Amino acid sequence: MAYDPVARHRVIEKNAVRGKLRKYYRFRTDRWYGGIATGDCVGCGLICKFCWVRDSILLTPQGQGKFYDPHEVARKLLSKARKKGIKQLRLSGGEPTVGRSHLLRLLDNLRWEGHLFILETNGILIGSDKSYARDLAPFPFLHVRVSIKGCDRDEFTMLTGSNGDGFELQLRALEYLCNAGVGCNPAVMTSFSSPKKLERLRRRIFAMVPSLMEEFEEEELILYPHVLDRLNRFNLSYRRAFQPGSVPPETE
Ligand code: SF4
Repeated sequence: MAYDPVARHRVIEKNAVRGKLRKYYRFRTDRWYGGIATGDCVGCGLICKFCWVRDSILLTPQGQGKFYDPHEVARKLLSKARKKGIKQLRLSGGEPTVGRSHLLRLLDNLRWEGHLFILETNGILIGSDKSYARDLAPFPFLHVRVSIKGCDRDEFTMLTGSNGDGFELQLRALEYLCNAGVGCNPAVMTSFSSPKKLERLRRRIFAMVPSLMEEFEEEELILYPHVLDRLNRFNLSYRRAFQPGSVPPETE
């Protein structure tokens, strides 16, 4: 039976958030976006069958990572960025919109630091509550990358096991963010979709917010061994994917 994606995020929140503290399992610098300091959160309310995050981190936040307050997270990200001379920061890993008050305080801590902050999200919590996008609006250095799972409701359910309403919430997140004046873009996982479905989604997003078409991003699987294991476990076949050593530089 398909689960309710919002309710599942709330359950995860109970284990991954304590007041203004949020659990993270690592801080690192990564090559994406031309170099970016990254905090990886514990816990996500979706269960994507292609997720690159290990099951233990994704599904059982109670046994993983450590709680950090927003000030500590800001300090860690800035220190990693400074060491590598990079100006971009992000939250990734699990779902960073879990723990709204932590996230808003973190952004507040970074307000005067002169970095671009990229929030990688599945969009479910933003799409389920218009006020979330409004809360993100006062941070002009923020860009939200909404990672869309599949091209329609059925694909969303097939890829995440969640009910199809989650697909609509992802699109609604983009709409709310745009209406609130928050910089954002759709990043669509296309490895499982036909060109026809992808085109239909493009048209739907264009009809909703035409300006988003300039930043429509297509994302493909990278076949890390643990991702392959996961795909095999769920008996999920893909149409397109990259081998880990052959990701084109323009996608980095
Ligand atoms: S939304 Fe992202 S972090 Fe969550 S399960 Fe899906 S791919 Fe993994």
